Amino acid sequence: GSAVPSTPFASPAASASPAASASPASPSTSADPTTSFTPVFHVGHFVNAADTDPSVAANRSVVREVLGRVASSTLGVATIDAARVIDERRLDDRLGAPVAAADAWGSLSGAARGEVLHRIGEALEAHRADLIEVMASETGKTADQADPEVSEAVDFAHYYAELAAQLDDVDGAVAVPEKLTLVTPPWNFPVAIPAGSVLSALAAGSAVVLKPAGQAERCGALLAEIIKPVLPDADLLTLVQVEENGLGRQLIAHALVDRVILTGAYETAQLFRSFRADLPLLAETSGKNAIIVTPSADLDLAVKDVVHSAFGHAGQKCSAASLVILVGSVARSERFRHQLLDAASSLTVGWPSDARSQVGPVVEPAAGKLLDGLTKLGPGEKWLLEPKSLDGSGRLWSPGIRDGVTRGSEFHRTEYFGPVLGVMTAATLDEAIDLVNDVDFGLTSGLHSLDPAELQTWLDRVQAGNLYVNRGITGAIVRRQPFGGWKKSAVGPGTKAGGPNYLVGLTGWRSAPAVD
Ligand code: GLU
Repeated sequence: GSAVPSTPFASPAASASPAASASPASPSTSADPTTSFTPVFHVGHFVNAADTDPSVAANRSVVREVLGRVASSTLGVATIDAARVIDERRLDDRLGAPVAAADAWGSLSGAARGEVLHRIGEALEAHRADLIEVMASETGKTADQADPEVSEAVDFAHYYAELAAQLDDVDGAVAVPEKLTLVTPPWNFPVAIPAGSVLSALAAGSAVVLKPAGQAERCGALLAEIIKPVLPDADLLTLVQVEENGLGRQLIAHALVDRVILTGAYETAQLFRSFRADLPLLAETSGKNAIIVTPSADLDLAVKDVVHSAFGHAGQKCSAASLVILVGSVARSERFRHQLLDAASSLTVGWPSDARSQVGPVVEPAAGKLLDGLTKLGPGEKWLLEPKSLDGSGRLWSPGIRDGVTRGSEFHRTEYFGPVLGVMTAATLDEAIDLVNDVDFGLTSGLHSLDPAELQTWLDRVQAGNLYVNRGITGAIVRRQPFGGWKKSAVGPGTKAGGPNYLVGLTGWRSAPAVD
């Protein structure tokens, strides 16, 4: 546990020796002698790329620094903490330990597990600065975004601790924990989402295998380093790195895995399902979210909330506002557009190492769909604010706002993970709601209006999991705003993270013995 790296910005020289670099998280590098472990040293997720492979380097958000080394193998899987390779033939053995650990853990009372979760919350809080630093250096997250993300992780720990205690006290039914949960989080919330998923499964009595996103390996490793020492049995949390190969697939499809908690693209959920048709999958997937602004709205507040929701974390949130729909006189007058343009142009774009940065780098290269979103106008569209690539890295983009987005167009319906917002117009609120609903996804949705009748109309009709009134549409708060989508924004039972039913849905149930 003492191995939590205190200096994520380690200099390349510090990790020059392969022996020392095999496992930054732990000095124990005992390779398993029964497998042929060919170390392929990845440097953070930016992979020694900067030194060796420019094409890989070009694919990562920060390529200037060597951040740390993690072990990998030609087979693609290794645990960071012990640098032990597992391969297909040994997957059963490797998963046996967590399953065994789950026996004792799952037979504790929920309240006892909750006590451990509370302590994990404290440990996460104690590592706030380390977590912020690793998010910044690895995934380009600016401090204003990374700091509340740590708070969210801490909130998950304490909230799921409370829910665990409630599992002890359900009339007529006894919770039967699942044994093994595989958690596959995204890179855009590289701390809060894996923490929430891991801690929910632990709270429900399961052991966990965490496979961090490839772009956020160090965030995942640091989380595991913080959580593991607090657990009564280290095997309750296993960190694996899986390259995109057959082993990832094997892991997902493995019979010992009782459940997969995924946050990622809708297509990824479909892919997981294709690996195993009966996969118990709980997935929060893509979004294409809009904020409606009606003439009754407080326009100053609306501008602030739209800008924050659209460009925070450079728009790389499933919850981000990708569209603003102006109704009636707001659409016809130039006032709102002017204010929006003004506010968006005032944002400071830069690397997280500069404390002034409000819009950080895009993590996935601005290529393909995202590049189109940042550069190509659809029919009838024009730039209210044209996005510009600000430096040679292709990572820093100034915010873009496209006006005149039309119903059924590419931009109306496609998710773009970058700092680009589309403006649509509608004659009436009903028409605006039609535009919101006319997409495949339904994750977050916003209304800016001070008219209760409008609010009721919107609540009755709008199709999205998280609805926000006179507020931005990102940054759901644990317990207060349980988070989860509708339509193609969720796959599986659709229970909401950070909400009262989440643990119940991760648990099997049997009838309680009759009491006289
Ligand atoms: N929970 C986050 C929010 O409310 C979004 C998570 C995501 O992008 O997947 O902003």
